[in-house]
Amino acid sequence: MKTIILARVSTEDQDSNSAQVTRLKDFATSKGFADKPKIYEIEESSSKANREKLQEVIEYIKKSKEKVSLFVDTIDRLQRSFRESVVFDDLRKAGKVEIFFFRENLHLHQKSNSADLIRWDMGVMFARSYVLQLSDNVKRRFEQMRREGHYFGPLPLGYLGVAEDEKKRLRGEILIDPIRGHLIQKMFELYATGNYSITTLRNEMIKLGLRTHKDKLPVRSIIDGTLKNTLYFGLAQSEQYGPYEVENVPRLISKDLFDRCMEIRLKRKKTPSKANLKKEYILGDGLLKCKKCGCSISFETKTKPSGKVYIIGACTNAKGMCKKEYVNENDFLKPIYKVLDKFETITEDVQNDLLAEIRKHSDSEIEFHQIQINRIRKQYQDIKDKDDRLLDAFLDQSITKDIYDKKHQEYADKLQLLNIELEEHTDANSEYQTTLVTVLSVAKRARSIFDGCSEPMQKRAFLKFILQNPVVNGKKLEFSMVSPYNLVLELADSPDLLPRQGSNLRQIDYIDPKIT
Ligand SMILES: [Zn+2]
Repeated sequence: MKTIILARVSTEDQDSNSAQVTRLKDFATSKGFADKPKIYEIEESSSKANREKLQEVIEYIKKSKEKVSLFVDTIDRLQRSFRESVVFDDLRKAGKVEIFFFRENLHLHQKSNSADLIRWDMGVMFARSYVLQLSDNVKRRFEQMRREGHYFGPLPLGYLGVAEDEKKRLRGEILIDPIRGHLIQKMFELYATGNYSITTLRNEMIKLGLRTHKDKLPVRSIIDGTLKNTLYFGLAQSEQYGPYEVENVPRLISKDLFDRCMEIRLKRKKTPSKANLKKEYILGDGLLKCKKCGCSISFETKTKPSGKVYIIGACTNAKGMCKKEYVNENDFLKPIYKVLDKFETITEDVQNDLLAEIRKHSDSEIEFHQIQINRIRKQYQDIKDKDDRLLDAFLDQSITKDIYDKKHQEYADKLQLLNIELEEHTDANSEYQTTLVTVLSVAKRARSIFDGCSEPMQKRAFLKFILQNPVVNGKKLEFSMVSPYNLVLELADSPDLLPRQGSNLRQIDYIDPKIT
C-alpha cells in the first residue's frame, strides 16, 4: 500500500506548512499507515503550478499497481473545481485510491456510502462557490468602472483613441477625429431634415469626403449604424448593464438631434417587423436539443377541429438524419413539474441542517481566506520596502533617474494589482455564504417561481437557470439539474443522507429514470 500526503503550502508561512505536514503524518499513523509517505506540496498562490502538481498526483495514482492512500488536510485543499473531483471519484470507484480528509474526518473509498459522498460533494461546492465569487467580483469591478463613466469599447467613426502605452494597449484620451468628426455631425444634421434615405445620405456623405479608418468608402450599414449610435451624445450601450453615461468620450452631437433622427427613422419604417410577432414557447429558442442529432427542438401551435389549441414540438431535423416525432408540450413539461414539486418537499429540518453545514464549513473558508490575505499583505509590504530602498539608491545617486523611473513604475504596478486582489478576497469572503442561502431559498420556491412567471420567455429563463443539458430522446425528455441544485434535490429525496454533525461535495448528475 502506498501513502501520499498532499499539503497546500504558502511561501510566506513555513511554520504552518511544516505543522500541516506533521499533522497529516500523525493522522496517517493513527489510521495505521506507518510507512514513509510520499509528500506533495501544492502552493496556494499559483493556480497553474497547482494544476500541474495535482496532475502529477493523479498520474501517480493511475500508474500505481497498488491502491494509494491519500491524506489531505481538508477538502478544499484537494480541489477547487468539479473537474478534479470527477477524476478523483473515478479513481475511487475503480479502487485505485482512498482519500482521508483530516479536518472533516472523512474517509472515502471504493465502497463509501452515499452519506459520505454527499459530504464530499458539499465540500467541493463550498470551495467552488468561493472561486466563482472571485470571478464575479472581477466582473463587478468592470461594472464599477462603467458606472464611473469609463468607456472601453470600440470607437466609432469620428473619434480617435490616443494610446497611453502601446505595449499594454491601454487607451488614454479619446479625441474627436479632426478629419471625420465634423462630417459625422453633418450626417446627423442632413438626416434630421427628413429629406434623405440611408442610401441617398450615403451618396451625399461620400461626396463630402467621408471615408472609413482604412480609407474606404463607407458601406450602407456604416451609415445606418452611425445614426443609431448613442455614443455620439455620450451614452454607451452595454448588453449586460444597459445604457450608461460616459465621461471620457467628447460629445459630437446633442441628444435632441439624435432623437430627431430616430423619429425620422421610425416614420420611414413602414410595417412592424415579423420578428416581433414571433410566438414564444416555454421550451423553445433552442432550450431543448435532440439527443440523436443535436438539433434544436422547435415548437408550433396547432388548432384542433374542435377549436382547442395545443402546442407540439419536434426535432427540426436540420441535418436530415432524424424523423419528426411530434410531442405535446405538456408531455415534456410533466417531468419538469415533478422535479420542481420535489424541491418543495424539502423539510425544515433538512433546510436547517444544510444551513448549519454551510456555517460550519465557512470556518475552513475563513482560514483559507486569511492565508490569502496575509500573503497579499506581506507581498505588498515587501514591494513597498523595495521601493523605499530604490528611492534611497536614487537619492544617493547610485542609480540613474531612468533606472529609478522604470523600477518604480514596475513596483507601482505590482502594488496596484495586489490591492485589487486583496479587495476581491475581502468581497468574496463576505458574500459566498449568501449565495448558498439563496440557492436553498430558490430551490424551495422553484414551483411557485415557475408558475409565477407570466411570459413563456421568463419561464424558459428560469429553466435555463436550473436545468443542465435537457435533451429529447425519442419522445422522452431527459435532463439533470445544474449544481448545486442537483444536490439539493437529492437531499429532498433522502433527507437522511445529510450528516447531523459532519461537514462536506462531488458532482452527481440527477437523471432519475422514474421521471424521464
Ligand atoms: Zn434530431
